[in-house]
Amino acid sequence: MLVSSHTPKGYDPTKHKWLMAIDVDRCIGCGLCVEACKTENAVPVGPNYFRTWIERYVITRPEPGSGEMRGETLVDSPNGGMHGFPPSLVPKEQILKSFYVPKLCNLCEHSPCSQVCPVGATFDTPDGAVLVDPKYCIGCGFCIQACPYGCRFMNPVTKTAEKCSLCYHRITRGLKPACVEVCPTEARVFGDLKNPVANDPIHRFIEKNKAAQSLKPHLGTAPRVLYAELDKEVR
Ligand code: SF4
Ligand code: SF4
Repeated sequence: MLVSSHTPKGYDPTKHKWLMAIDVDRCIGCGLCVEACKTENAVPVGPNYFRTWIERYVITRPEPGSGEMRGETLVDSPNGGMHGFPPSLVPKEQILKSFYVPKLCNLCEHSPCSQVCPVGATFDTPDGAVLVDPKYCIGCGFCIQACPYGCRFMNPVTKTAEKCSLCYHRITRGLKPACVEVCPTEARVFGDLKNPVANDPIHRFIEKNKAAQSLKPHLGTAPRVLYAELDKEVR
């Protein structure tokens, strides 16, 4: 698949290395990013269609005398967190810890979705994205099953597989992904590792979070979305 069919004239993907990072501590669960993504990318309306979404984790206090450090871990994401979150049903005094985790395609360097696509409609780009070309997608759904992060869905209108594209149509024109653009707290940061700008958010993130992690690193998918302050319960 040609990257050039997705990019403006003159864009050279070998001269960029894009990276997305999430600071979990900064996310307030407002959902502006989810809404911006839906609008920017014409993601179908409906609770099952998201290119990015927010999960709320609530970890309860352990039962007294149980000897455990933590109780249960409860996760919810009403309408992908697009309209924020209602108060948790768990009474405040029972909550040990609660936080929000933005999720999206992890832009795996060793992407299982690309590996199983029988027609090459899903492909990796030299600048660190994983894209789907709907012109070639035959809607078999193999990639949806292969993604260990649940990041893909079948578009009910086009009948082709969809996922976060890192707003490739924006970043190759010098813009930020829509979700990063609207995030009011800099919970989402984005940048180009090959073209560092002094004091830019992605380099500040890397400097500050030397121990940033990715999701499910044991799978060997080599995600290119990094997370800071990731609780061990996050999957
Ligand atoms: S997170 Fe899923 S959809 Fe994204 S590159 Fe990895 S396997 Fe593919
Ligand atoms: S816009 Fe930022 S703060 Fe709001 S939910 Fe998204 S990542 Fe979290």
